[in-house]
Amino acid sequence: ARPESQARLDALRGEIERRNPAQPEFHQAVHEVLDTLAPVLAARPEYAEPGLVERLCEPERQIIFRVPWQDDQGRVHVNRGFRVEFNSALGPYKGGLRFHPSVNLGIIKFLGFEQIFKNALTGLGIGGGKGGSDFDPHGRSDAEVMRFCQSFMTELHRHLGEHTDVPAGDIGVGGREIGYLFGQYRRITNRWEAGVLTGKGPGWGGSAVRPEATGYGNVLFTEAMLRERGEDLQGQTAVVSGSGNVAIYTIEKLLALGANPLTCSDSSGYVVDDKGIDVELLKQVKEVERGRVADYAERRGASARFVPGGRVWEVPADVALPSATQNELGEEDAATLVRNGVKAVSEGANMPTTPEAVHLLQQAGVAFGPGKAANAGGVAVSALEMTQNHSRTAWSRERVEEELARIMTDIHRTCHETAERYGAPGDYVTGANIAGFERVADAMLAQGVI
Ligand code: GLU
Repeated sequence: ARPESQARLDALRGEIERRNPAQPEFHQAVHEVLDTLAPVLAARPEYAEPGLVERLCEPERQIIFRVPWQDDQGRVHVNRGFRVEFNSALGPYKGGLRFHPSVNLGIIKFLGFEQIFKNALTGLGIGGGKGGSDFDPHGRSDAEVMRFCQSFMTELHRHLGEHTDVPAGDIGVGGREIGYLFGQYRRITNRWEAGVLTGKGPGWGGSAVRPEATGYGNVLFTEAMLRERGEDLQGQTAVVSGSGNVAIYTIEKLLALGANPLTCSDSSGYVVDDKGIDVELLKQVKEVERGRVADYAERRGASARFVPGGRVWEVPADVALPSATQNELGEEDAATLVRNGVKAVSEGANMPTTPEAVHLLQQAGVAFGPGKAANAGGVAVSALEMTQNHSRTAWSRERVEEELARIMTDIHRTCHETAERYGAPGDYVTGANIAGFERVADAMLAQGVI
């Protein structure tokens, strides 16, 4: 027979699936967390209080709105906007905005749910939320993106505030979009409220190292996992997927620590570069020209080739850092990585590894860093940006980098120790879920039934 706490979690999972039909990513994220909580519910009777886990799995508020905008030819388009304010026990809702055609309510709920635990793990005062739109910025002019952002913020602004809900970037939302969104918020509210958005420009309230933070943080987390096994990143080869903000700064930090990042990718295929990715060229192609990874390969010369339609996971390497999007690394990819001797897999993206792939990697003894721990550096530096905004100061690059390194080391230690405490040594998934849960659950219990 299943222990009582496990049976209760299974029943809750079934109920959530019934109540939220056609949201497979949300189901996946909830399942993945509930699957690891039985030992903590069994050990700590206060957590088994009726309604606690149920409240945690239900967003406090979900906002869906219409976003009309005009393209450069004057044609009207209508997109959907979302903001899921999931949990505010630890602080204002905090989490990015994603602009991508795949966005729907279920995707935003999965991201918002993950964000609760991730934000809790940083040890900083931020609750969990997420938002976005099915708008596709790809191929749109700056003026079109600006009009879209203005329309999006015209509706969203009434739900935001530095003490209420603080968005940032995610896929499709970077410095340009945050600028347009902030401008419209300031205009509508007549408030220069720096702490309402993070990822701002360095001259107007943005934090040093925020663009780099997610990628840098994931590499620091990977290094910490390797150190636990008596190794480090020096001289190791790495496969990185994606070519957005997370992938670029993952590659930059790998190079800084003496590792050799061999790949990057986008939806059309991947690049493998035998000499290691030239991060300055990649930045030029992606950040300045907003081009594709195929352009990188063309410009780089003999060491690099573009593999159309291929998957980076077929390139043998010591370390794999999925940094593109959800469910991009499946069971077969995991089997390929294991066959090629991978030592560590760490998630720069949110939920890039399918549950079957995670299981396979862990069974094979690969160190696996779940996104809610490994990619928490981004939101952590967002929280540091909020701190700087509240005190009207700007910290040096060195100071932010130091704080980031300390936070990532702390998260690694917390996950590692928690996993050990609950009889799952080396299992960072269990460690991250339980440690994040404990912090949120304690705050929720203390604050009563709200
Ligand atoms: N979108 C990022 C994440 O998934 C950052 C969120 C933020 O900085 O608020 O954690």
